[in-house]
Amino acid sequence: MKYVLVTGGVVSGLGKGVTASSIGVVLKACGLRVTSIKIDPYLNTDAGTMSPFEHGEVFVLDDGGEVDLDLGNYERFLDIKLTRDNNITTGKIYQFVIDKERRGDYLGKTVQVVPHITDAIQEWIERVALIPVDGREGPADVCVIELGGTIGDIESMPFIEALGQFSYRVGPGNFCLIHVSLVPVLNVVGEQKTKPTQHSVRGLRGLGLTPNILACRSALPLDDNVKAKLSQFCHVPLANIVTLYDVPNIWHIPLLLRDQKAHNAILRALNLQGKLREPMLEDWTKMVKICDSLHDPVRIAMVGKYTGLSDSYLSVLKALLHASVLCRRKLVVDWVTSTDLEDTTAQEAPDVHEAAWNLLKDADGVLVPGGFGDRGVQGKILAAKYARENNKPYLGICLGMQIAVIEFAQNVLNLQDANSTEFDPNTKNPCVIFMPEGSKTHMGGTMRLGSRRTYFSVKDCKSAKLYGNVAYVDERHRHRYEVNPDLVAKLERCGIAFVGKDESGRRMEIVELPSHPYYVGVQFHPEFKSRPGKPSAVFVGLIAASCGQLDVHLKSKGDNNLPQTKQNTRNGFPAKVCQNGHAKNLPNGAYYANGNGVHA
Ligand code: GLN
Repeated sequence: MKYVLVTGGVVSGLGKGVTASSIGVVLKACGLRVTSIKIDPYLNTDAGTMSPFEHGEVFVLDDGGEVDLDLGNYERFLDIKLTRDNNITTGKIYQFVIDKERRGDYLGKTVQVVPHITDAIQEWIERVALIPVDGREGPADVCVIELGGTIGDIESMPFIEALGQFSYRVGPGNFCLIHVSLVPVLNVVGEQKTKPTQHSVRGLRGLGLTPNILACRSALPLDDNVKAKLSQFCHVPLANIVTLYDVPNIWHIPLLLRDQKAHNAILRALNLQGKLREPMLEDWTKMVKICDSLHDPVRIAMVGKYTGLSDSYLSVLKALLHASVLCRRKLVVDWVTSTDLEDTTAQEAPDVHEAAWNLLKDADGVLVPGGFGDRGVQGKILAAKYARENNKPYLGICLGMQIAVIEFAQNVLNLQDANSTEFDPNTKNPCVIFMPEGSKTHMGGTMRLGSRRTYFSVKDCKSAKLYGNVAYVDERHRHRYEVNPDLVAKLERCGIAFVGKDESGRRMEIVELPSHPYYVGVQFHPEFKSRPGKPSAVFVGLIAASCGQLDVHLKSKGDNNLPQTKQNTRNGFPAKVCQNGHAKNLPNGAYYANGNGVHA
């Protein structure tokens, strides 16, 4: 096993996660099998209890791990499936060591950060690096380890110490350190400043780690003299300094790395030079070109508790993007803060209320993502009602599905106080209820989490067709409440259809309005398994319906139930696309189905 460690210097938010994922893409393109580990030096055991509005979304894995959103980047870029142990936190390591101490495993020794915590970190890395993540047997060739935070943080010290020991243990030729840093440009003189990078590399060296490669974030490519200066002062060869300058979208980063021959520098450090092919990134390049050339917009109103941090809904945005690229449309997301749609805002701030409603009305489609707590729920119900009554394509995810059911019960069944017991514990018409297996006292890891199976109970429905007429799908979950099974028959008599259920048939997973162009709610989170070139089925449904392509998509599914083969597509895109960007003559079957949780 070879290890690539990615650290960050100067400031946070340099895009270390995307850089590390992109390094993985380039190494994979050279023919290596790649896995990854993300280290988060915070005390939380996992990201499950952290607010997405502070820390970005909580990403959910197949095994139910609630992890840092960077693992989502790895899964999407490398098309792999990680496990909860691929996300190491200080909390997990300390818990492991303290449990061991309580069992008496340390045989009377004083338990200390060095060597006990640092040993536990190294053992964890070695164990997890061996877990296969790409669907093939046996371990990967390379493990990319991303160390969260910035060099010099107190929290990351035990990890730095552990990684310093680890690099020595695995030895030269098996370990490559890439330091991502910032080269700011001072406006007055327009000069690229190297000092912050020099200082952070000195800090790194002082802690016992020597960088092999510098990846410098800057607005423009680094001038030659700036590179020379960095090389001289940081003791890194010129050929090992790459610039990650600003690009239109993150899919460019692997190409940027390849163009600057970063793979050669990495492979040299890993003693693999000359043993592998040049990176094959033709499909990736095609995808980037398509994405750059899109101009016809598709406008999606995202109705949520938006507070300014778009990372809170990162995977949903990526899934929308993947589907838009497939439909050859430029994605425009209009953020609608759900409370702005409510009547109280109409009184307090009429302008804000009007602006929010205008955004919703002008959108081609509406998406209500997952969420917790009752703030803004009323606004989401109003958005769902508007979409239902005005034939506007609607996709409700998790809470968004529950909202669709509550709205239908309130306004079609006329059960005015219909609600989720999450928001009104005393409602006389609880149409969404707490699940028996949940916990109200312990929040960490107590939801219905991870991959669960949904069986299509109705075959002739939009979602079944979009998934490629499969018998069942495996998608990831994260919820405590569910549609009240005792109300299902009553709801269905009024025209809403529960078309997907779990194996017991009592738990509702997919809801649709057959009379509506596209009104779909899913209890799961399909966004977590959407991949570039392999978009999630229900997201394709939303985007296709929003730009008038749904019939073409559904027809291609209905006409052809042939099993999926890679030959059907090129990089997951339909083979023929007519001039105006509308897909036509789509190839057989579900081009987004392969490896995407879909089984025939
Ligand atoms: N709050 C809802 C529940 O717990 C929805 C959760 C979600 O959207 N992820 O069931």
